[in-house]
Amino acid sequence: MHNDKERFAEMIRHSQRIVAFTGAGISTESGIPDFRSAGGMFDRLSGRHFSGEETLSIGFLETYPELFFRNYAEHFDFTQALPNAGHRFFAALEQTGKEVTVVTQNIDNLHQSAGSSDVIELHGNGTRGRTFETAEPADAAQISMDAAGIQRDPQGRMVRPDIVLYGEMLNEEAMERAATAIGAADMLVVIGTSLAVYPAASFVHYFKGPYAVLLNRTPVPQSLPFQLAVQTDAGAFLAEVWQEFFGK
Ligand code: NAD
Repeated sequence: MHNDKERFAEMIRHSQRIVAFTGAGISTESGIPDFRSAGGMFDRLSGRHFSGEETLSIGFLETYPELFFRNYAEHFDFTQALPNAGHRFFAALEQTGKEVTVVTQNIDNLHQSAGSSDVIELHGNGTRGRTFETAEPADAAQISMDAAGIQRDPQGRMVRPDIVLYGEMLNEEAMERAATAIGAADMLVVIGTSLAVYPAASFVHYFKGPYAVLLNRTPVPQSLPFQLAVQTDAGAFLAEVWQEFFGK
């Protein structure tokens, strides 16, 4: 393990452009469950069970808005979550003069809260809202819940989370920026993602640089030839790397 940290630190020293490609796993140490734990709900009224993917799809929001908001509030309340050492690592690395871009599948805003300045959100941001019909940004302070638990703005319009739901397209600009940053990087650090959600997972293939690293708690299909793959809790690992090699 010590050797892994040393190798990781060495790769960072040799790299100027670094991209962190993150998924739900980087935020579990902040108390936000990853996707597997968040999946699925049973609705007593209809007697139906919905899969995790279904509950986060545009079709579900359109058909069962009340269930959508109930499930979302239960599983995706980020208001109490704080960034952990994993998020802070990349914000701090930026301060050392490295060009650091975070490409994240997460919607929890924790990379931004940690202080990273260049964050590309492939799936949007759940701390923001927008009107369902007209996609106007909604001021969080003005959003309220109606009797059915549906978020509304002061005009009574439904406000949805500003995220990419299953069945929706990713933002073109975010995809282009992600492809460019990954394609130009010397080092790609893939963290806490099952690499199973497409098209996001396919972005790692734009990488052409010398150092690809995977930090994941469980084994995942290694669709890329990683120079270093460590089965670990990313926050704890990165905290130790920082302390041992950069924190002086
Ligand atoms: P996933 O849940 O499919 O996979 C998470 C991976 O992270 C798993 O392989 C797990 O073993 C690993 N992991 C968990 N804790 C870890 C840790 N402490 N250190 C290292 N690895 C850890 O996640 P995904 O690939 O990101 O896909 C889930 C989709 O759902 C994404 O599109 C994401 O937008 C969304 N999602 C986001 C959040 C969030 O914003 N925090 C939370 C849940 C789901």
